[in-house]
Amino acid sequence: MRQNTIAPRVLARTARGSHVSVQRRSLATPASLPEKDCTSITPPYSKLQQNLATIRKLLGNRPLTLAEKILYSHVYEPERTLANGGIKRGETYLQLSPERVAMQDASAQMALLQFMSAGMSRCAVPASIHCDHLIQAAEGAEKDLQRSIVTNQEVFDFLESAARKYGIEFWKPGSGIIHQIVLENYAAPGMLMLGTDSHTPNAGGLGMLAIGVGGADAVDALTGTPWELKAPKIIGVHLTGQMNGWTTPKDLILHVAGKLTVRGGTGAILEYFGPGVFNQSCTGLATVANMGAEVGATTSTFPYTPRMRAYLQATGRAPVALAADKAAANGYLAPDEGAEYDELIQIDLSKLEPTINGPFTPDLATPLSKFGSFVKEQGWKDELSAALIGSCTNSSYEDMTSVADLARQAKKAGLKTQVPFLCTPGSEQIRATIERDQVTSELEDVGATVLANACGPCIGQWKREDKQGEENAILTSFNRNFKSRNDGNRLTMNFLASPTVVTAMAFSGKLSFNPMTDSIPLPSGESFRFSPPHGQDLPEAGFTPGETSYYPKPTPEPQPETEVVIRPDSQRLEILQPFPSHFGEDSGNNRGLELPPLKVLMRVRGKCTTDHISAAGPWLKYKGHLTNISENLLITAVNDEGGEVNVAFDHEHGPSESESDTIPSVAKRLKARKQPWALVVDDNYGEGSAREHAALQPRFYGCAAIVARSFARIHETNLKKQGILPLWFVDKADYNRIGSGDVIETLGLADLLQGKADASIRLRVTRSSGEQFEIPVRHTMSADQLKWLRAGSALNHIRAQISAGAN
Ligand code: SF4
Repeated sequence: MRQNTIAPRVLARTARGSHVSVQRRSLATPASLPEKDCTSITPPYSKLQQNLATIRKLLGNRPLTLAEKILYSHVYEPERTLANGGIKRGETYLQLSPERVAMQDASAQMALLQFMSAGMSRCAVPASIHCDHLIQAAEGAEKDLQRSIVTNQEVFDFLESAARKYGIEFWKPGSGIIHQIVLENYAAPGMLMLGTDSHTPNAGGLGMLAIGVGGADAVDALTGTPWELKAPKIIGVHLTGQMNGWTTPKDLILHVAGKLTVRGGTGAILEYFGPGVFNQSCTGLATVANMGAEVGATTSTFPYTPRMRAYLQATGRAPVALAADKAAANGYLAPDEGAEYDELIQIDLSKLEPTINGPFTPDLATPLSKFGSFVKEQGWKDELSAALIGSCTNSSYEDMTSVADLARQAKKAGLKTQVPFLCTPGSEQIRATIERDQVTSELEDVGATVLANACGPCIGQWKREDKQGEENAILTSFNRNFKSRNDGNRLTMNFLASPTVVTAMAFSGKLSFNPMTDSIPLPSGESFRFSPPHGQDLPEAGFTPGETSYYPKPTPEPQPETEVVIRPDSQRLEILQPFPSHFGEDSGNNRGLELPPLKVLMRVRGKCTTDHISAAGPWLKYKGHLTNISENLLITAVNDEGGEVNVAFDHEHGPSESESDTIPSVAKRLKARKQPWALVVDDNYGEGSAREHAALQPRFYGCAAIVARSFARIHETNLKKQGILPLWFVDKADYNRIGSGDVIETLGLADLLQGKADASIRLRVTRSSGEQFEIPVRHTMSADQLKWLRAGSALNHIRAQISAGAN
């Protein structure tokens, strides 16, 4: 298959012009922001290409996809990773060294609390914190921002002080949404970055791999611990043709979501290639990458294009563009000729139609031309109740100038939007630029309310007064549309579409309106039809940064004397106390390097995802407070002894205690008695999102081992990080032989901890009846992970290394 690369000749020519032309104003060359210090944001291309050369050789010089190149060039110790027989996509676990970490305000809390307990004085890689998820949308930007700052003051104070102490760039409330800011400031072709948010892949619009992870994974990168990822499969999406008329990059990803469904990208990277990539703006590609999360993809990426280069220049990063040009000339930023994909999707962009996805799932795709009849067939009211544009997914200058074009057309015809029309700029830079260029006033003229530069209605922070408890339909240009996501109303049907389709429909107020073919009647008796919208990729007068007091000082030095602000009576934040080791004099364990005798808390029946172990919803506000959030431990899990949800038995209860209680209550009783405990669980324990709380909480209450029919790999690793020993039944039938109140003791763990790599572990089970038997179990602990177990957690191990001066 023929692959597209940027011709080095063209790159060299444009590269030469970059330093001279970027500051010059002309119609053809937009102005750029003042050049930033790009030292910490330029990927170390020479080192990456050297690493890749080593891996290539070890892989027998086979052609590689772009995603493989970026991933493999970040492999930690390539020889060790490949020692066990090369890399098999979908099977091999890679140890990787990400270059950067970005965290949003909700997920940053536990990530930082964990990082703090590692005892490091600075982060191993550059990092940033973004205050965006905690801003509520109710009355408009200014009031919403002020009110949200007051409500969340203690969280923002904590984040800001921790950022200062460790030299992390802190983006204040009002600065914008994490992914838009990353694209504008940090993303670079060929980079590998982690972000504690599922739409981190947005940065793939700049031809990199940006992966959404949980806090514990972010802490790996922050502490310089190699980060583990199963080598993803690569789905190739070959783009030909050119979009026209009303079709936008959003429609491309809505179409792909319809094809792949919400699970079709699981364990895979979506790699787009072909001439159709080169016709799209960098921010358009970011929209496509952003929503790859909706099909479960690990991330999405694209070969480096001249429009990425132009975006880098316009955002003050010409030196990054120059370095990327050179790396591209060596073939680093494009797939090799003949690279093989695990699956291939062909899309002709010329034939692509605007698409509307939903309700309630992002993969229910309906072409715009059929949407009216779809609404009729379903028997839904032909009525739109609100239109929302913007968010991290779709608030680029191109998006906003395209919708302003529609607003201008409508205003000329005397039209106003028929429903609330809310616009969320993705960043302060976008807000200020569209305000300067009169885009904002054009939108406000036709009825728009401009909200704060934050997540707002996209994450449910929309204080919607109308339609509560009523079935109604909204259209958004956001990325997710699960039930209740935007306004908390389960009856709100939320459809996803491009910003231009959302805007056009706001003027009609009808779901059946097709702006490509339908007209809107005017009071004069005439009718009005929109012309296809035109936007502008980059502002001719350049971006303007707006309110710079929201921005951090670039690459700040750590200020170790800073005290991290956590109120002693806080209900939302709590310093994470290091977990004690299971071994040694202070542990009270007299079994040496075997675990102490463990009481079985319960036998968990069937599916037990990280959501069952640590429920979300109202518990999210306690993400930074381990004691409070632990009250939700396993509250939706089924006890196999009796089949009830959230019931556990306490066989040694005191006279004032009941025999059965909620699971967290019984776990708390065991903790109070200083009785370490274990869980017996079924197949695929811990599947679902990589939530570190699902490992932290049982450990907090005193869990030391979990014995499973099988584990979900990511959760198994998270357990190991927190000092819990995951063990697998050799014979799955043994699951039924152990019940609550039984005592299990490891046999053979000491040999393993003392370096006998082939030592096997058995469990001695003493039933509450007194009966005793032994069963074989197996483990997947590596030499490093055994060190974590011995220290009590990975972070304890790191802290000990630092104290010993080894780090
Ligand atoms: Fe997530 Fe929405 Fe915020 Fe984007 S705007 S980061 S999708 S909550």
